[in-house]
Amino acid sequence: MAALETLIEALKRLPGVGQKSAQRMAYHLLQHDREGAQQLSTALRSAAEQIGHCRRCHTFSETEICTICADPARDPKLLCVVESPADQAALERSNSYRGYYFVLLGRISPLDGVGVGQIGAAELLQRAAETGVEEVILASSFTAEGEATAYVLAEALRARGLKATRLARGVPVGSELEYVDLGTIAHALVDRR
Ligand code: ZN
Repeated sequence: MAALETLIEALKRLPGVGQKSAQRMAYHLLQHDREGAQQLSTALRSAAEQIGHCRRCHTFSETEICTICADPARDPKLLCVVESPADQAALERSNSYRGYYFVLLGRISPLDGVGVGQIGAAELLQRAAETGVEEVILASSFTAEGEATAYVLAEALRARGLKATRLARGVPVGSELEYVDLGTIAHALVDRR
């Protein structure tokens, strides 16, 4: 059954999904939820085709400029740098930040060959140098790579005379922002230094 094999292989592309779980999902959809399978297929196709990146902050967006960048009620003095659209969503859910964002789409990882050139640092420096930006908050994760990313970016920003701050500790070491509880994120934002 080529189609079944292809489906299982495709499901295995998802993070944390191995052969067994992929098989379970495929059999479940085919046996119990054909409608769900159609729905999933339509949703995947339209997301993959319609969602691009905001030209200004690089987060996911269906429009050229995302809704946050297009919101004039945001505080233009603050620019928060995050590693991913998921981390940005976590900060938004915490309801404790009213500035704009810059999404790196990655973090420095020498072992994987990801250097400062691959994470959009040049675009960030350009964005941070725009008139009105007074503080760049580095909210990369508290993993070794996230810390290295924050360090390198802070140095580059300060070298250009820009103010760079880091989310306060309190966010557990080794953690991805996306999985940190909202209260902790809010505190880390308030206590940034
Ligand atoms: Zn944007």
